[in-house]
Amino acid sequence: DRRAALAAPLTAGALADGHVVPLLANLGSPADAQAAVDLGAEGVGLFRTEFLFLDSPSAPTVASQQASYEQLLRAFPGKKVVVRALDAGADKPLPFLTDKDEENPALGRRGLRALRNHEQVLRDQLTALAQADAATEADLWVMAPMVADAEETEYFVDLARELGIRTAGVMAEVPSLALMAEQVLRSADFVSIGTNDLTQYTMAADRMLGTVAHYQDPWHPAVLRLVAQLGAAGADAGKAVGICGEAAADPLLAVVLVGLGATTLSMTPAALADVRAELGKHTLDEAREMARAALAASTAATARSAAAAVHAV
Ligand code: PEP
Ligand code: MG
Repeated sequence: DRRAALAAPLTAGALADGHVVPLLANLGSPADAQAAVDLGAEGVGLFRTEFLFLDSPSAPTVASQQASYEQLLRAFPGKKVVVRALDAGADKPLPFLTDKDEENPALGRRGLRALRNHEQVLRDQLTALAQADAATEADLWVMAPMVADAEETEYFVDLARELGIRTAGVMAEVPSLALMAEQVLRSADFVSIGTNDLTQYTMAADRMLGTVAHYQDPWHPAVLRLVAQLGAAGADAGKAVGICGEAAADPLLAVVLVGLGATTLSMTPAALADVRAELGKHTLDEAREMARAALAASTAATARSAAAAVHAV
């Protein structure tokens, strides 16, 4: 419970050999920040900004956004905080931003595509973030959702820099972006893998649809191969490759993701303790061996069992 978590020593995330893996929180509102700190979050790996926009008939002002971002950043002095630009569309339609009557909105003008079509909304959000960053002590990183390739990456990173954002990156949620990781990392300062959407789009199975829910398994070797490609490109470029989808909350998969090259893991704060404990049982060499075993499997289920069999503890 909360009191036990507070009493436990909150060491930084690390493998058994001391290889450091910062463990970050996924947050949906600044009000959740303190609870995440209490549960040992070393920063924020995904701050979803939709809450600012969803219940309103128009985009919030720069000043009101800035106040919310400052509230968040003040909870993490000196710590990394990764904020995601508005991810509207698909399951999160917004009357003033997204197109009505798309037949297949998950494949439509969502995420960065919708923002680019209403660039002032994106400019205002980036301006509010840059001003909040200047007024506080956290290490703000900003990323775009639903980015397809290096051209879209460059568009977002250039605009973010123009408006005063110091560290700008993209989410890897679309297979085409993962396949182009090397080119993407020429302009992006980092990538963060959204395994929920990356799995949905790799398997071509709607993550909201119960009849195809069994496809939504990030252990699938097809998904892991894309993660491996991103991890290798990040290592070559010397840039961070985070994970911020639900996959990072699965302790065994978290170890495999580090073996594939993930440099940070971000998750719902309730999962931090179990992931921290599992990481501490394996060295980086063992994590890489587990990753190789999972990559060589042909199904999600056999990938998991193969990884578990490499180093049973
Ligand atoms: C993801 O797709 O993995 C992700 C973190 O974004 P969301 O779940 O908000 O779509
Ligand atoms: Mg997503």
